[in-house]
Amino acid sequence: MKAVVTGGAGFIGSHLCDHLIGQGHEVVALDDLSTGSESNLEQLGGHPRFELVKGSVLDKALVDDVVAAHDTVFHMAAAVGVHTIVDKPLESLRTNLHGTENVVEAAVRHGAGYLIASTSEIYGKNDTDGLTEDADRILGSPLKSRWSYAAAKGLDELVAYIHGGDSGLPCAITRFFNIVGPRQTGRYGMVVPRFVDQALAGEPITVYGEGTQRRCFGSVFDVVPAMVRLLECPPARNRAVNLGGLEEVSIGELAQRVIELTGSTGDVVHVPYEEAYGEGYEDMRRRMPDTTLAADLIGYEPQWRLDDIIA
Ligand code: NAD
Repeated sequence: MKAVVTGGAGFIGSHLCDHLIGQGHEVVALDDLSTGSESNLEQLGGHPRFELVKGSVLDKALVDDVVAAHDTVFHMAAAVGVHTIVDKPLESLRTNLHGTENVVEAAVRHGAGYLIASTSEIYGKNDTDGLTEDADRILGSPLKSRWSYAAAKGLDELVAYIHGGDSGLPCAITRFFNIVGPRQTGRYGMVVPRFVDQALAGEPITVYGEGTQRRCFGSVFDVVPAMVRLLECPPARNRAVNLGGLEEVSIGELAQRVIELTGSTGDVVHVPYEEAYGEGYEDMRRRMPDTTLAADLIGYEPQWRLDDIIA
């Protein structure tokens, strides 16, 4: 495989680069380093099958140029993080929609298979048991999507579907549910690294709201190989597939587990949502994936337990 990983200097993208290089593939990471960092790729520095191109997926000519020499594209680049999205909704919408258009159109033009990263956010505030991949719920109810991020990702999926259906190329869409692991930073509001940073610094852990909201955290080491398998799986073509962990935990319990595992002397403090994200902010009470489709298609079965992920 000659692969392009957009957002390759980011959290998931850099692990994907490691994995692809480990599998013997050639890899180019395309990243503008807005939230990613070169340090995430220092282990690949000087590797003969690896290159980092610094630039934006909004640069159509650059994207075309990079994709032209490759047969596979993993599109991870996006404006991410609750703070970025809430503070700069239009900018995130543009980056996420136009970036995906540029990447998918270049892939189709040059006959490269492609996978785009979508998100559980497109399910909006839906907090019923085990979310399934039913597309009607998203496209039929766009107003349920929260923020520009969710809307752009929904449209990204549409761009991928439309091109994928016509092109006959391998095309996959992964909807990530709270993926965590090394190199993820807490700077943009991600809860697990933020809690771990606070605990290791001996500071109080700040829980937004009462801490009763529930989540499942998935390991990056489970989802990265799953992405590659999905792109190589013909029945997964042009379908959106949930990927995440299956161990549900409340945010209050998560804080306690982080304190225990780090041996922190810090306490837990509760902060109202409005203080963290401004007036009118509402969080989802519960978010857990139904990963049956991934299990059926590629035998996906998360191996990483939450305590091991935190450790
Ligand atoms: P990340 O911020 O670590 O990675 C995103 C990368 O994209 C960064 O390296 C950033 O510098 C780069 N980038 C941003 N704008 C760019 C642009 N215009 N041109 C080129 N590069 C650009 O975040 P991540 O968690 O690794 O997310 C990767 C993908 O997975 C994103 O598409 C995100 O929406 C999606 N996702 C992640 C999660 C999760 O739990 N981590 C959940 C849902 C979806």
